Amino acid sequence: MRVAIYSNDGSTSNKVASQLKAKIKDSDKLNYDGLNPEIVISVGGDGTLLSAFHHYIDSINKIRFVGIHTGHLGFYTDWRDYEVQQLVDSLEDDNGQSVSYPLLSIDIKYKDGGPSDSMVALNESTLKRVNGTMVTDVNIKDEFFEKFRGDGLCVSTPTGSTAYNKSVSGAIISPQFNAVQVSEMASINNRVFRTLGSPIIIPPNEWITIIPDDPYHNILTCDQLLVKNRPIESITYSISNDRIYFAQYRHTHFWKRVSNSFIGVHKDD
Ligand code: NAD
Repeated sequence: MRVAIYSNDGSTSNKVASQLKAKIKDSDKLNYDGLNPEIVISVGGDGTLLSAFHHYIDSINKIRFVGIHTGHLGFYTDWRDYEVQQLVDSLEDDNGQSVSYPLLSIDIKYKDGGPSDSMVALNESTLKRVNGTMVTDVNIKDEFFEKFRGDGLCVSTPTGSTAYNKSVSGAIISPQFNAVQVSEMASINNRVFRTLGSPIIIPPNEWITIIPDDPYHNILTCDQLLVKNRPIESITYSISNDRIYFAQYRHTHFWKRVSNSFIGVHKDD
């Protein structure tokens, strides 16, 4: 089985990555292949897994990910840095088991007459404005829904619902749902201006289009990436036809992960 390692630059991560590489070289069943891997092991935190996802985006349907965390518990990282041998044993016993999660499709049209862009996010995409109020039309299935005024909008996947979306009071969605959520960032609501004021969640056969009044001065993100600075005509969000796959050697129940990460104290503690 062809295995790649994608590590951050931390000293613990580098140490773990070297140990892994040596064990892969010693294995009869595993080959190190950074160009055309079947398994990508991310070593670091959620941010490292996000970077690995975007690095291998062109072959995303052929890859299964495994996350080792070298810092505090992450959402996409099931293995600890001291479990390298157990992970290698699991890789050698691999029988193709996987779990997959929905991704966000982002189609961007620009006002400069240049080519449009299509991107895929694992966590979310945000459209924000820092100098002044962001004013946009929000359409659902090409029908006008509302005029949004505020700091910005966050459009997230179910696995991304525990990230930025949670900080702006979006709901946490189990990744068993194929859904996309739109959450507001500091919307202006008064007698003159009105937005829905609640997060909305759309199913696979619907899409959301955001059309900023001002094509300039917007900040568009896709996970940790800043999308290039071109005047935006519209952004259409929907559930991607692609999914992310994780090798499922062990399974932390989603709600257990949420409880461990955000609540921490348990009944028996
Ligand atoms: P990072 O690696 O420092 O990540 C920031 C934090 O988000 C970390 O604590 C990480 O564990 C956590 N995180 C990432 N994905 C998560 C997920 N799916 N569920 C729960 N927690 C998650 O920074 P980065 O590499 O720039 O990561 C980019 C991500 O940071 C973005 O996708 C966004 O979700 C998040 N972010 C959050 C805020 C906020 O909450 N106000 C602001 C900016 C970015």
